[in-house]
Amino acid sequence: MTSISRRSFVVALPLIAVGLASAARAQGDPPANASATLFQNVRIFDGKSGSLSAPSSVLVKGNIIERISTAPIAVEPGVVVIAGNGRTLMPGLIDAHWHAMLIRPTPVQSVNGDVGYNNIAAGAEATDTLMRGFTTIRDVGGPIFGLKSAIDSGIVPGPRIYPSGAIITVTSGHGDFRQLSELPRTIGGMLSRMEQVGGSMVADSPDEVRVRVREQLMQGASQIKLTAGGGVSSPFSPIDVVTFTEAELRAAVEAAENWGTYVTVHAFTPAAIQQAIAAGVKCIEHGFLMDEATAKLIAEKGVWLSLQPLPEDLRLGFPVGSVQRAKADEVWPGIARTYEMAKKYKIKTAWGTDVLFSQALAQQQGAILASLVRWYSPAEALAMATGTNAELLALSGKRSPYAGKLGVVEQGALADLLLVDGNPLENINLIADPAKNFKVIMKDGKVYKNTLGG
Ligand SMILES: [Zn+2]
Repeated sequence: MTSISRRSFVVALPLIAVGLASAARAQGDPPANASATLFQNVRIFDGKSGSLSAPSSVLVKGNIIERISTAPIAVEPGVVVIAGNGRTLMPGLIDAHWHAMLIRPTPVQSVNGDVGYNNIAAGAEATDTLMRGFTTIRDVGGPIFGLKSAIDSGIVPGPRIYPSGAIITVTSGHGDFRQLSELPRTIGGMLSRMEQVGGSMVADSPDEVRVRVREQLMQGASQIKLTAGGGVSSPFSPIDVVTFTEAELRAAVEAAENWGTYVTVHAFTPAAIQQAIAAGVKCIEHGFLMDEATAKLIAEKGVWLSLQPLPEDLRLGFPVGSVQRAKADEVWPGIARTYEMAKKYKIKTAWGTDVLFSQALAQQQGAILASLVRWYSPAEALAMATGTNAELLALSGKRSPYAGKLGVVEQGALADLLLVDGNPLENINLIADPAKNFKVIMKDGKVYKNTLGG
């Protein structure tokens, strides 16, 4: 490029950017973007407490909850008023274990399908996710960065995304979805299709792990996800195996901590969990085959346990006689045991769903949360999916994509809010039917749904 053409290119750039932004607004079905919204006469579940507040007013300005008061707040010009009529105002829900790119496609489509199609399908699912009241998700594996940018720039409505990017695994580990026909791979040779699309990356030494971790951070990962032990859905990954070595896990932890963030690992067994903790991992996903000694260790070290009350339908979805079904049959009985140990040892527990490859199951996202009442009160379950999950998100530090406090209704927090028709602390099943019971859905101060008018 000559210096003249470079200069005209640089001059043209802002114009291109302006053009793209207005095109995005024209096509993106933008939310009603009031600069201020006043909720009157609402009872607040604040994301922590066991009971609702007295009738209150809540003023949102820009994307922040500016004021909460039991006394009336004066209506300034230009403020949109929403009459709550005693309904419940609560924080937007947070799913701490979600794979936004892996809900609508089949497993084969997710690897071999057209990338553009997969992103558009994931965009539609992201809109549905937001309309279920989930204003934030922690994405623990998948080629998520494009979808996240499209949501953040207002092209497609969807939740806030805390992205991990590609799942980092070992040869034959959970997340290695290659076929045996793709082996052996030349060392330093071609990437597999799965790796090219950014779904998961295979790394078999500390050096390779560092490269793959740093690549995810460079793309905007807010935390790093590795698979430290076998998994149910992977064809060549037995449940009982430990995959990474401690040195490999430590390499990931160092690279993440150099960037001020943390590593979370998929792990079921005591051996896999204990090795991960020794390497400095800050969060364990699932942990369903852990024993009492491991539960004690998790509690002692202050490590997070990210649990999912996986529904029976997910287990039954694996064909009888398949390797995956046999593994699911081994893991599922551990779910209840693990929840009981998490309570017994007061482990810091996050909640998520881990829905994979099923739009129908994704529609049960709220119902899966409500199913926590097997072990918790409705208030405890809802606090886990709001205030507590937000504490886990905060581990990302400066790598958090969104400045501000999430998961709570308090002055100065980000305005991600749901107005619920009824009291979910008395009837948590209200959460399971969001189309009917969520009258207002607000994310980042913008109203995405309002069936009350105002
Ligand atoms: Zn998962």
